[in-house]
Amino acid sequence: MIPSAFEYHAPTSVADAISLLGRFGDEAKLLAGGHSLLPMMKLRFASPAHLIDLGRIPDLRGIAQVGEEVHIGAMTTENELVWSRLLAEKVPLLVEGARWIADPQVRYRGTVGGDISHGDPGNDHPALMLALGASFALRGAGGERVVAAADFFHGLYDTELQPGEVLTRIQVPIPPAGTGWAYEKLKRKIGDFATAATAVLLQMDGARVANASIALTNLGPTPLKAVAAEAALAGRVLDEAALNEAARLAMEICDPVADQRGDVDYKRAMAGEMTRRALQKAQSRASA
Ligand SMILES: Cc1cc2nc3c(=O)[nH]c(=O)nc-3n(C[C@H](O)[C@H](O)[C@H](O)COP(=O)(O)OP(=O)(O)OC[C@H]3O[C@@H](n4cnc5c(N)ncnc54)[C@H](O)[C@@H]3O)c2cc1C
Repeated sequence: MIPSAFEYHAPTSVADAISLLGRFGDEAKLLAGGHSLLPMMKLRFASPAHLIDLGRIPDLRGIAQVGEEVHIGAMTTENELVWSRLLAEKVPLLVEGARWIADPQVRYRGTVGGDISHGDPGNDHPALMLALGASFALRGAGGERVVAAADFFHGLYDTELQPGEVLTRIQVPIPPAGTGWAYEKLKRKIGDFATAATAVLLQMDGARVANASIALTNLGPTPLKAVAAEAALAGRVLDEAALNEAARLAMEICDPVADQRGDVDYKRAMAGEMTRRALQKAQSRASA
């Protein structure tokens, strides 16, 4: 299908993008990589009269270490995450997660900021960012505010972004040295969204778990932080009993929707399985 007509704007600064958002209000939509927005426009689920392209704003790109965090511009593409040496060294979970997204064509255009802003529970960055304890810089006419990932995702396509705001930057705390990581994603084929996926960061103290961070993709209307599973693992040896307990507690918080990827029971079971696998892989990569 062909989208309805729109006027195209290409600002070269965030300030100009914000001023265009202010001028056109509800009639405007920001355009990043277009891989979620354009399909919606073609289906006429979205019919913005004005498209504000963020692609010519240099300030919105790039990956840099700032103190104990890595800052990522919202318009940084998935492919740039995949090939970032800094991320490979400091935040390898993000590299692993980005490699699981869609296919190379989508990864060349799709951006980390668009993936987060869209509020689609099928997207992978929301759970990755929850597991990492990331936060998001949102800028509007009144200035900038920084919101934790844990407070950002409100519901299906519903986020903390207010009208007139642009997500400009993602701030990711660098996990302590020795932290294990894994993103385990079950998908039916290349280019598909997750049937179920689990992101894990794991710090070990000898044979015991010192700290676990666990987040789930596409198992509810928002990404889910498996806090009960995390608490159950603290101080325990990661044996079969502990893995089973963490998987059971992760499954308990899932509220998936039945679709072509499977029914509710299957998806919940796969959430448990992805959680087990991610914990085991993270443990194999952790050093005490
Ligand atoms: C075939 C296919 C398979 C896919 N598989 C996956 C997958 O496995 N995992 C996954 O995570 N994603 C997947 N996607 C989605 C893809 O990653 C999209 O690129 C992503 O969801 C949106 O990013 P974008 O840069 O394309 O944003 P756009 O489509 O341009 O924008 C998406 C929404 O976010 C808003 N927006 C964009 N940037 C900002 C910003 N900086 N501030 C405020 N609002 C903003 C837009 O206004 C729009 O409402 C898939 C897409 C396709 C087409």
